[in-house]
Amino acid sequence: MHSLRSLSVVLSLFTAPVLAAEPQAAPQAPTAEPEKPRCEHGVQKSLCARCNPKLAPVFKAKKDWCPEHARPESQCVLCNPELAKKGVK
Ligand SMILES: [Zn+2]
Ligand SMILES: [Zn+2]
Repeated sequence: MHSLRSLSVVLSLFTAPVLAAEPQAAPQAPTAEPEKPRCEHGVQKSLCARCNPKLAPVFKAKKDWCPEHARPESQCVLCNPELAKKGVK
């Protein structure tokens, strides 16, 4: 009798930490990419030169600029149609 009771105590010690850890799983985003806030242009908001005109000189300095469409070349879906697959508008 006594040994049976101590066995159940041991079992509860084993299972308790596992049960406590399970509900802590982070909510999974539907896409594989890490979640970053995107603006209406489909660009990472903090990097969108159309939302943040102050960024324009930064992109120009990096030679990442499309003068024809007044936006960074890396955000210019008109010059880089494959960007549309990433949701860039
Ligand atoms: Zn934008
Ligand atoms: Zn362009």
